[in-house]
Amino acid sequence: MKEYVSVWVYSENNNLMLELISCGRSLSDTLKIELTAVLIGDEAEGKADKLVKYGADKVFMINHPTLKESPDEICLATLTDLIATHKPEILLIGSTKNGKELASRIAARLETGCIQDCSYLTINGEGQLITKRVVYSGNAVVTATFSRSPHIATVPLRTFEKLEPTERKGNIMKLEAKAVKPRLDVVSVSKMEVTDVKVEEARIVICGGRGIDSKEDFKPLKELAQILEGQVSNTRPLAEDRKWFSGWVGLSGKKIKPTVYIGCGISGMIQHVAGMRDSKIVVAINKDPEAAIFEFADYMVVGDLYEIVPAIVKELKKALD
Ligand SMILES: Cc1cc2nc3c(=O)[nH]c(=O)nc-3n(C[C@H](O)[C@H](O)[C@H](O)COP(=O)(O)OP(=O)(O)OC[C@H]3O[C@@H](n4cnc5c(N)ncnc54)[C@H](O)[C@@H]3O)c2cc1C
Repeated sequence: MKEYVSVWVYSENNNLMLELISCGRSLSDTLKIELTAVLIGDEAEGKADKLVKYGADKVFMINHPTLKESPDEICLATLTDLIATHKPEILLIGSTKNGKELASRIAARLETGCIQDCSYLTINGEGQLITKRVVYSGNAVVTATFSRSPHIATVPLRTFEKLEPTERKGNIMKLEAKAVKPRLDVVSVSKMEVTDVKVEEARIVICGGRGIDSKEDFKPLKELAQILEGQVSNTRPLAEDRKWFSGWVGLSGKKIKPTVYIGCGISGMIQHVAGMRDSKIVVAINKDPEAAIFEFADYMVVGDLYEIVPAIVKELKKALD
C-alpha cells in the first residue's frame, strides 16, 4: 500500500476551487490524510476561511503585490517550490486555460506525469490514484494512473458538486510567494469587456444552430435566456462560416456542463455534442424527427423553432406576470 502525505488542490477560479475541495476531500478521506488548498492571489486574504468551511483541513495563503502583474510565473515558481518542500502525493488543479498550462509546466519541472481533464478520480484497493478522461469526442474513456509522484491531475468545472459548508476548523498559514524574475515583461494589460456570464459558467445555455436563418433571429433565444437567467451560444458554422459570433460550443470550442441545455435548430453532429454532452438536462428543438441531437435529448420538441421558441417565451412571461 502506497504511503500518501497529503492531497492538494489549486485553482484561480473560486467555484472550481470549491469543487476541487469536494473531490480532494473524498480522496483524502479514503487515504486518511490531510487536504490542503493553496490560495495564490492578491485577494487571497478573506477567502481562506471559506475554503475550510467547504472542506479543506489546511490553507496555504500566498498574497503578494506583484501577483497582479505576472501571476503565471509567480504561481508556477511558488507552487513548484511548495510541492518540493511539502511533498504532497496528489495535486488537483482546475482545468482552466491557465490551470492546464500551469499543471503541465509543474509536471515538467518535477519530472512527473500530468493527466488533463479528468472526469473521475478514485483510489483503488492498492491505494493507487485512478483517473478517467473522455477522449475521441466522447467516444472513448481512458483509464490511467501514475508511475511517478506527485500525481498531477486537472479537473474541469462542474465535474464535482461542491460540499455544503459547515462550521469546521482548519489551519490557515500565510506564506511568501517565491521571488522570481519573470522571463516576460508585461507591457500593458487591457481588460476584455465582459458583459455576460461566460458560457462555460452558465447554468442554462440556449444554443442556436444553422436552423436559424439570420443573426437577428437570435432575438427570441436571447429573450428566453434573459427570462431563465441563462446564456446564449451557437454551433461552429455560425461563427466560422457565417461570421455572426466569435466562439461556439463543441469539440473545437467551449465545453459546457450547464444544468439545462436547450438546442434550437441544431442537428447534433458529434463535434458539437462533444461540447455539450455533459449537460444535466438536454432539450432539443428540431423540425426533423430523425435529427441526431434527439439521441442525446431528455426532452424532444419536434417542430419549427420559429414557432416554438417565441411560444415558450410567451408562456414564461405569462407565468412570471
Ligand atoms: C474538425 C471539426 C471540428 C468541428 N468542431 C465543431 C464544434 O466544436 N462545434 C460545432 O458546433 N461544430 C463543429 N464542427 C462542425 C460540425 O461537424 C457540424 O457541421 C455542425 O455542428 C453543424 O451545425 P448545426 O447543427 O448548426 O447545423 P446543421 O447540421 O446544418 O443542422 C441544422 C439543423 O437545424 C434543423 N432546422 C432547420 N430549420 C429549422 C427550424 N426552422 N426549426 C427547427 N429546426 C430546424 C435541421 O433539421 C437541422 O437538423 C466541426 C467540424 C469539424 C470538421
